[in-house]
This record gives sequence, C-alpha cells and structure tokens, in this order.
Amino acid sequence: IYRTKSLTLSSRDSYFSFTFSSMDFTSPGKNRYAYRLEGFDKDWIYSGTRNYATYTNIPPGNYVFRVRGTNSESTWSEREARIGIRILPPAWQTWWAYLLYAAAVIGLLYIAGEIRTGAVLKQKVKELRKTKDELASANRKLELLSLMDELTGVPNRRHFNDILTREWHSAARTGKPLSVLMLDLDFFKAYNDSNGHLAGDECLRKAAEAIRATLDRPRDLVARFGGEEFIVLLPETDEEGAIQVSERIRCAVQKLAIPHGASEAGPVLTVSVGAATAIPSVTDSPDECIRQADAALYRAKAAGRNTVIAYRPTH
Ligand code: GH3
Ligand code: MG
Ligand code: MG
Repeated sequence: IYRTKSLTLSSRDSYFSFTFSSMDFTSPGKNRYAYRLEGFDKDWIYSGTRNYATYTNIPPGNYVFRVRGTNSESTWSEREARIGIRILPPAWQTWWAYLLYAAAVIGLLYIAGEIRTGAVLKQKVKELRKTKDELASANRKLELLSLMDELTGVPNRRHFNDILTREWHSAARTGKPLSVLMLDLDFFKAYNDSNGHLAGDECLRKAAEAIRATLDRPRDLVARFGGEEFIVLLPETDEEGAIQVSERIRCAVQKLAIPHGASEAGPVLTVSVGAATAIPSVTDSPDECIRQADAALYRAKAAGRNTVIAYRPTH
C-alpha cells in the first residue's frame, strides 16, 4: 500500500478482505505471512502461505490492519504494511441519535409526570369535593339542629322568634291581624312524678305532633317554647279564629287519651291555652302579644285547666 493511508467504511460494509504479497519473487509459493487487525485481533495471526485475511461483522470503531511477510527463506521482513480502517456506526448509534433518545426519554418522563400530576390532582379534587359535600351536609344538619327542638322535632323558640318577627312585619304591612297561642300541659310535673321522665318525654312528642296536625294553614306554626310549653303562631288570624284553633288543639290533646291519674283536670293528659290577637304596627314589637297570650294562659290555668281563654285588657 503506498497511496491509501486509511479507509472509512459504513456500518453496512461488514464483510471485507485483504490480499497481500511479499515482494520476493524467488519462490513466491514459499512466502509466509502474519497479519493482525489491531483493535480486533488479540494477537498476530500467522497464516502461513495464505495471503488473504477476511473479516466479517466488525463493530464500528477505529482499527489498523497490519501485515508482515517472509521471503522464500523464511526471513521476516523488517517492514510491515498497514492501513487504518474506520467503521462508522449506523445512524441509530451516532451521538445525535443518542441525543434524540435522551430527549425522547426526558419527554416521556415529563409526560408521565404530567399524567401522574393530573391523576393526583384529579384525586385531590375528588377528595375535596367529598369533603365539601360532607361539610355541606353537616352544615345542613347543624342548621336544622339550631332551628329545631331535638325532643319533639318542632321548631325551637329561637326559630319561632325569627318567624314571628317576619310575620309581624308582614302583618304590619298588610294590616291583617295575627294571633299567638301559649300552651302548657296540665299537671305535667305530676305526670312525670308518677310515670317517669321518659314517659313524660314521649307525651311531649305526642302532644307536639297532635298540635302540629291540627294546624291547617301553611304559615301556621307550632314551636316548643320551654319545658312543657308550646307556642303557636297564626298569621292572618283574628281572635275568633284563634279561639277556634285553640279549641281544636285542646280537643286534640285530650283525644290522645294519655292516662293521667294524677291530674285534677280529668283522667287524661290535657292542655291549657291562652290566646292573644294583635293588629301589628311597625312601631311595636311582638313581645307584648306573647305577654298577653301568657297572661291568658295564666287565666286558663286559674279557671281549672283544660281550657281556652282569649286575652282581655281587663286581665
Ligand atoms: P300546671 O298544670 O300548672 O302547668 O302544672 P305543671 O306541673 O304542668 O307545671 P309546672 O311548671 O309546675 O311543671 C312543669 C313540669 O314539666 C316540670 C317538669 O317535670 C316537666 N317538664 C318540663 N320539661 C320537660 C321535659 O323536657 N321532659 C319531661 N319529661 N318533663 C318536662
Ligand atoms: Mg309550665
Ligand atoms: Mg304545665
């Protein structure tokens, strides 16, 4: 080789051979050879008189093919022939291909991260929504608890006051009358004393239900005022109507026919009712109306209980 210093082969040129000759023409058949592909062969290959070398499937890289020879008298030449061989990597093994792989891996990791973050977010949103629903439901329960009497299930005094104020203002605008009934179970302490508080509680529940059942109009309202006292609001109802409803309530409680041996008002549990009617004005408050119903109730008690009495200014 005197011109070519090196060869560059593509990765597809996986099969190549060299043929070589010693420049001794005395008896060419006796010339012997040794060759080595540096970077691939571990050692020199003594091929004897064979004057070619074949390589297949050489991986990409830089190599030097070296060859030496003898003359016909087996004297090794001082000089050797050499040629550089460069086998290029295939496109998928080049540095820019690796760069592309790295970019793809990073891209995939990023996408996976995004998907995961999305899933985590979705889960969090789901949890938050659940918490929100639970909170809303708890709030509704709390609201109900703060408005309703736990024992009887009818509105409590606070709720009643709110509605009374609203109805009072409404009546002040329309100029229509409004009635309030104050109710108190008769000899209820004695009932508890002879039957126990649990039985007493059951009576309160039954009485509350009976009172509620007698009220026809949607805006009529019964609430638990205190221990065994109830209060009824009758919007747009004059005194005559108030007395009618009171009587209905009195009869309804009596009709429950709850035996009450310790009552001096009869053999069963009864209720006394005081009724008061007002034509509200924006300037006065409903308190006076409640006070009047209470005064009438006091009169009903004094009159022997199981009685309805409407308030009169002379009281
Ligand atoms: P009167 O006919 O004058 O109203 O007599 P009374 O015994 O009903 O009146 P008083 O105010 O002396 O007693 C009310 C009683 O009501 C006291 C208590 O024993 C009973 N009471 C009040 N609240 C409750 C309650 O939540 N449950 C039960 N079981 N009893 C109650
Ligand atoms: Mg009482
Ligand atoms: Mg009582």
